[in-house]
Amino acid sequence: MENTSEIKYICTGGCGGSVTEEEYNAGKTVCGDPDCPKYGQPFEKRIHCTECGQDSPEEQNHQHTNSV
Ligand SMILES: [Zn+2]
Ligand SMILES: [Zn+2]
Repeated sequence: MENTSEIKYICTGGCGGSVTEEEYNAGKTVCGDPDCPKYGQPFEKRIHCTECGQDSPEEQNHQHTNSV
């Protein structure tokens, strides 16, 4: 089984900002865009599926239904 998901952190304020888990752990935990309504607010954790490119909330069990 291949692991096709990775953790990332995104801003939900609409600026499109996101950081990798590595950057988040290095201290980049809040939005840094002064024009964003969520400036200074913490990023939210997402599970990024590298297979289909979707970002899902952590609690959501992302899976592919098109497998036969
Ligand atoms: Zn933002
Ligand atoms: Zn997927």
